Amino acid sequence: MPETRTGALKRLFPDEPGFRQAQLEKAVFDDGPNGWNEVTTLPQPIRDRLGKEVPWLSYDEDSTVFMESGDGDSFKAALELGDGSCIETVLMANRRGQWTACLSTQVGCAMRCAFCATGKLGLKRSLTSDEIVDQLRFWRRFLLKRDRNERVSNIVLMGMGEPLANYDNVKTALNLILGNTDIGSTRITVSTVGIIPQLNRILDDPEWPPVRLAVSLHSADLKTRKELMPTTYDRFLDDLTEWGQRYRQKFGNRRHHVTFEYLLLKGLNDTPDHAAKLVALSQEIGQVKVNLIPYNATDSGFTGSDENRIEEFAAVLRQAGIDVTRRRSLGRDIAAACGQLAGPRKG
Ligand code: SAH
Repeated sequence: MPETRTGALKRLFPDEPGFRQAQLEKAVFDDGPNGWNEVTTLPQPIRDRLGKEVPWLSYDEDSTVFMESGDGDSFKAALELGDGSCIETVLMANRRGQWTACLSTQVGCAMRCAFCATGKLGLKRSLTSDEIVDQLRFWRRFLLKRDRNERVSNIVLMGMGEPLANYDNVKTALNLILGNTDIGSTRITVSTVGIIPQLNRILDDPEWPPVRLAVSLHSADLKTRKELMPTTYDRFLDDLTEWGQRYRQKFGNRRHHVTFEYLLLKGLNDTPDHAAKLVALSQEIGQVKVNLIPYNATDSGFTGSDENRIEEFAAVLRQAGIDVTRRRSLGRDIAAACGQLAGPRKG
């Protein structure tokens, strides 16, 4: 895995006082400087050496592939990293002048969900905390060039990769963002397939920030979930329930609840029977929010549920008192929607 900026600072200047690290991190999120030489808070010899040996950005600005959706509501960028790996990141409008950045956490993904384009790639490697953070820096720079009043207000870790399979770097990246921007922890959502040991680790980790968590459930029926998501093991739903109960006890309040993401696939997980199973699981955990996601076409051969079916499914949940939201799908025309990120097609 490539070295981080902080790692390089410590290696090159082992005798410098500890506050240099905070200065460096602050400078990286500052909109002013365009390179190490412009970071006036650092002494000139440090700037010179960093300038020679440490990239200011972890992607190559010149080889960025950039796309804009027809309605101008979403943008996608493919960034080339130092080792030639390519990752995708997305920017979506949420309110007037406010944007949500969707960040990747790995190059490819090992989870192999049947409906997801990224899963087909397999995992190449995890991203460093800098590579995660720099996707946000990319969009902040982009907005700054467009209009000074627009800003990234929300972040979702829903790009390529499984965030909890890259636990430490994701945690470092989140803490860097929280410590150096005005984006608050309830405006950041980490989405996971539900790696139970890592979910449990979060509950006991004082350094894990109080960001929102969303579990990609997609089915509360074990057999169906196994078909859709091969990471599902026999006791998965039991363990998830237990975790959900612990999470509630520890963090449960109006702002922190377990969210389930639920992708509706025609005839597969969208029947009243499946809705009833989702209700039962949610009630066993307690306060749960369900976010229904429309299927975005990939070449995996699934079909999304019809509008009527989606509404019927939502109605069953609402009648049971479950807080249901429906996700708008943005950026489909530029293959930037959930599950469509698979890198630019070459050749
Ligand atoms: N690995 C993480 C985050 C990446 S995917 C996770 O699994 O949660 C972000 C969300 O998009 C997940 O809920 C994922 O299941 C969903 N998704 C994947 N493929 C999709 C598709 N083709 N259409 C709609 N959503 C999809």
